Amino acid sequence: MIGLTILGSTGSIGVSTLDVVARHPGQYRVEALTANRDVERLLAQCIEFHPAYAVMADPDAALLLERRIRDAGLAVEVLAGVEGLEQVASMDSVQYVMAAIVGAAGLLPTLAAARSGKRVLLANKEALVVSGELFMQTAASSGAEILPIDSEHNAVFQCMPEGFREGLDQVGVTRILLTASGGPFRTLPLDQLQGVTPDQACAHPNWEMGRKISVDSATMMNKGLEVIEACWLFHTSADRIRVVLHPQSVIHSMVAYSDGSVLAQLGNPDMRTPIAHALAWPRRMASGVEPLDLFEVARLDFEAPDLHRFPCLRLAYQAIDAGGGAPAILNAANEVAVAAFLERRIAFTAIPAVIDSALEALPGKRVDDLDGLLALDAEARERAEQSIAGLV
Ligand code: NAD
Ligand code: MG
Repeated sequence: MIGLTILGSTGSIGVSTLDVVARHPGQYRVEALTANRDVERLLAQCIEFHPAYAVMADPDAALLLERRIRDAGLAVEVLAGVEGLEQVASMDSVQYVMAAIVGAAGLLPTLAAARSGKRVLLANKEALVVSGELFMQTAASSGAEILPIDSEHNAVFQCMPEGFREGLDQVGVTRILLTASGGPFRTLPLDQLQGVTPDQACAHPNWEMGRKISVDSATMMNKGLEVIEACWLFHTSADRIRVVLHPQSVIHSMVAYSDGSVLAQLGNPDMRTPIAHALAWPRRMASGVEPLDLFEVARLDFEAPDLHRFPCLRLAYQAIDAGGGAPAILNAANEVAVAAFLERRIAFTAIPAVIDSALEALPGKRVDDLDGLLALDAEARERAEQSIAGLV
């Protein structure tokens, strides 16, 4: 049996991962489950999956969980904090780590998994955006396998030829076509964007996801982060990656070859497909996802993204061009701005303004060590908070 740690097991990806695992009894042993502070849900998952460890990032929540675990008579060891997360991401009894914490909060445990040579099922794109070069080097030197869970990158991975790590030209790949649904506001009149609410922003037309990534999809910052993610995962520069709006979310991405062929991966929009793919790779296994009915889909549309409607996508390209620490600044400022929008402290349309001010204020110099990245992340958060304070 394969030992599995799920970082962020109470979230949308975490719950879908447990759903897939439960369909294959005897194949995966859930060694550790982790959450930030959702004690009730983590307890319920412990009762169902009997992990050896449960980790709460929040120390008070850990104390509470420990008491509940004891009362329930379970043999689960409770750990706390980022040290606990790093421990369960790197321990010997674990071979696969699902990295599904949201935001840069997942950076240290995800890096710990990469450092200890695990198969890393990478959903936590922010970790890669912040630490790209360091993360890929860490994985390369430990021999960790990085398998993308983000549906687009999982699709690209499925359409890529063997040997793509040597360079796209060597294997005849000319372009990566990253599809994007355009989110809930693709056609909303521009003058109404100012007044949209968090619930409207989180009502994604095709996917059910956590609130942070749902807002990122509505601003299209999600696609910007994904372009950066794809550069690292597929060893390419951003000029080889084209974003294609595809409102039906049936084609999850494509790879174009020098002979004119374009390979696509299709399926219903359900994260259990990429999760099952990465758990079973190089084999295949059932995921519980409904088979795709092309007659029901009936048509597939494509359009170019509008950078005027989606200034966050433009800012992401700006950060890619600037290079160095700029993607880490972009990510940190975006996390702060999205949290402020979800708390109704700023308008939806203020999100790009906050990010822009952080990118303007901080030099995007090259940072290649972890301490430097963490310091830059903290500085960008502070800068973004200051600009929010100036807005309200
Ligand atoms: P979510 O908000 O539903 O869940 C987040 C998980 O992280 C929860 O278990 C939460 O307890 C944990 N967490 C939050 N803050 C934490 C902290 N400070 N320390 C430790 N744990 C913390 O998010 P999600 O939608 O499942 O997304 C998770 C990641 O996967 C994100 O990086 C997202 O971009 C990526 N992703 C999600 C989807 C999707 O369909 N949901 C698709 C592609 C990529
Ligand atoms: Mg995605």
